[in-house]
Amino acid sequence: MCGPELLHIGIDDTDSLDGRCTTHLAYNIVRDILKNRLGDFVDYPLLIRLNPNIPWKTRGNGAVCLRLRTHDRKKIVDHVTRYVEDESAIDAGANPGVIILASRVVPDVVQEFGRRAMYDILSLEKAKKIARKYDSIDHFLYGNGHGLIGSLAAVGTQLWGDHTFEAIAYRKLENCKTTRKIDPLKVIKCSEETFPNTFNNYDFAHHRVLIAPHGPDPVFCGVRGETPDIVVSSLEMIKPKEQLDGYMVFRSNQGTNMHLLNELEFRDIKPYMSGFSVCRVSKNPNIIHGGHVILEVKDDCGNSIAAAVYEPTDLTNIASRLKIGDVVEIGFGVGESTSKHQEVLNVEYLSIVQLSQEFRVYNPFCEDCSKRMKSEGKNKGFQCEKCGSRKSTAQKIRVNQERDLKTGLYIPSPRGHRHLTKPSHRYDLVKSFLTIDSASKLIGSWVSSIPLDQRISENRL
Ligand code: ATP
Repeated sequence: MCGPELLHIGIDDTDSLDGRCTTHLAYNIVRDILKNRLGDFVDYPLLIRLNPNIPWKTRGNGAVCLRLRTHDRKKIVDHVTRYVEDESAIDAGANPGVIILASRVVPDVVQEFGRRAMYDILSLEKAKKIARKYDSIDHFLYGNGHGLIGSLAAVGTQLWGDHTFEAIAYRKLENCKTTRKIDPLKVIKCSEETFPNTFNNYDFAHHRVLIAPHGPDPVFCGVRGETPDIVVSSLEMIKPKEQLDGYMVFRSNQGTNMHLLNELEFRDIKPYMSGFSVCRVSKNPNIIHGGHVILEVKDDCGNSIAAAVYEPTDLTNIASRLKIGDVVEIGFGVGESTSKHQEVLNVEYLSIVQLSQEFRVYNPFCEDCSKRMKSEGKNKGFQCEKCGSRKSTAQKIRVNQERDLKTGLYIPSPRGHRHLTKPSHRYDLVKSFLTIDSASKLIGSWVSSIPLDQRISENRL
């Protein structure tokens, strides 16, 4: 008899702004697979945030990938597609796509598709072409099927490099239209006790709880952190008053800057791409209405482009003090060009690499009475107003000015963070290469509402 098959299941574009959520659909699918013992999960469900700058996303451009071993591929395919058909907001504009790859390894082209989906704009045609090329891939489209792009990209992203975890707690459906009641004091206490192993729970500068959304979707809250244990125990610390449906732990690229890893030359950029560039400030900053700062930057090939630093990032104070000639590295998303203006780089982080020297120019001192001399006119020398002494060869003096800026990395404050933004403390916590074995040791409590004997604790590929 054949051994179990390894399935990689990508799902995307199942929700609309009226409610629902692709992670919630994944939660329901996972619980059902476990309840009916249809398979053994070999990794946490992945929550992959794709290029955050594409305008046709519903919210955070998230797609999901489930990886499990099963003896019954057909049953899993039926199960997943039935859930997607029944629980997607297709009538309200969702366009789900599902990819089910049965293979020990993810083909290179699928991995490359996933890598590009982080920073570029990909087409549905390309996704379909790849899906059709492999016998090991089943694919399903609903509505216009645009979700196939995200579902294929999620399967292509295995996250063996840096990653984080999020425990997402779900509401009971009957509560979804009510206000979420979260005690800010509990969130503050949890943040203080678990930082830096959890992050972005609370914005201390602006006194805001960050773990809960505000819409009608079934997510009650989500705690992000470095290990599955810490995010689950933090959820327990926050213990809301509302009775919840359950929770599930996702492994994710949130908080990793994965969309900004690609260095882009200005001549190659297109609207909605994401990336970074090391460039030089070529026009002094201009502060516009709303407190936003506009710079002009030039790359090594001599191409210039406008870069906008928006007020909510809290980086405008730094950006406004940049000067022509400063070398900066910027992470950015490319804004749309219009008939009125060309593309603009929307800055997501700013690292000052080198500050240009700034000089003040003074008239020279009189050698006889130490007073500053007065210029006699261009190239005509200087005369001392006090003693009358003349110096035809004297030169103006250039004095280096101390800059009121320091080199180094500047990132937005938490209220300006996107899902993918790497918080400053995570620069020291980046996880390097992860082996399949270490990813696949799932903790017993990774998903709630499963009888203990059905929880998987030691699955391996
Ligand atoms: P949620 O976060 O609530 O799941 P969302 O913000 O992920 O919603 P979707 O409804 O999934 O938004 O819509 C995003 C759409 O963009 C999907 O159809 C997905 O296939 C597509 N998409 C994702 N990344 C890219 C990309 N790099 N290029 C082109 N299309 C993309």
